[in-house]
Amino acid sequence: SKDAGGGEYCEYEPTLHASAEERRKLELSLRNALVNNEFLLHYQPVVDAVTEEVVSFEALARWHSADHGFVSPGKFIPLAEETRLIVPIGQWVLREACEEAARWPGHVKVNINVSPEQLIEPDFAASVVRALAQTGLAPERVEIEVTESVFLRDAGIARRALEQVMALGCQVALDDFGTGYSSLGYLRKLQFSTIKVDRSFVQGASQQSAESLAIIRAVVAMADSLKMTTTAEGVETIEEAEMIRSMGCTKIQGYYFGRPMTAEEARNLIRREDLR
Ligand code: C2E
Ligand code: CA
Ligand code: CA
Ligand code: CA
Repeated sequence: SKDAGGGEYCEYEPTLHASAEERRKLELSLRNALVNNEFLLHYQPVVDAVTEEVVSFEALARWHSADHGFVSPGKFIPLAEETRLIVPIGQWVLREACEEAARWPGHVKVNINVSPEQLIEPDFAASVVRALAQTGLAPERVEIEVTESVFLRDAGIARRALEQVMALGCQVALDDFGTGYSSLGYLRKLQFSTIKVDRSFVQGASQQSAESLAIIRAVVAMADSLKMTTTAEGVETIEEAEMIRSMGCTKIQGYYFGRPMTAEEARNLIRREDLR
């Protein structure tokens, strides 16, 4: 780390300004990204841990900015959340993902990420109803993904919104499980369909971390007794896939079975699977 004192200070300050300036420019571009059609969705397969059949695709937002080139979701999603631009962007994601999933065979579902800022909008459930009606997609084929952070603030509002979405027939998954400040209390209050075990535990377990192995086993046992399924994220090798399967996870997602791909590539994958 850099010493901010003395002569170093002059060197340090311009970079601080540069990053604030860069953020401002990025925000400006993000404001125009929707009307400029700069977003698209990629789709990553989620497979049944035992049969290895594709059961779902997770929709993942991509931004090709005319001004900044490809900007990673790890960068623009937090900015969109801070500026609340995630609300209109998220509506576009919802509509686009449902439209694409409506073209797939009925047994293939779609997973859609939803940020806390979207969930606490009064018309969130209505926007789901609209997306389903406009695309003709059955609600049972949609699984909304939320992280534990939705229960940090406005927990009551978030819970009611998720209950409304469940009443429509959609499912709700708890994403990045184990990374947040969870009280586990909400697991009693909401019937999640799926708990997604964060990639960090999968990587840890494959490095023979006894703690990671114990945590995955405990999550699987807990999910089983709560009648929820589990998806292991970030499975990159055959060894990890076998380890995860042996621990009883229901579904697997990760580079080993497929990276996020274009809509066309996802359709081709489904077609090949149907021929198997
Ligand atoms: P996430 O929801 O946890 O999505 C999984 C991330 O892990 C994706 O990163 C995916 O490309 C990556 N991944 C999948 N398999 C592997 C693997 O085997 N190894 C490794 N190293 N990584 C893997 P991505 O696409 O960069 O997205 C990052 C995050 O941005 C997402 O994490 C999600 O929190 C957020 N995000 C993406 N799209 C949306 C969206 O449409 N709406 C909202 N609200 N958030 C989104
Ligand atoms: Ca997710
Ligand atoms: Ca995740
Ligand atoms: Ca995440």
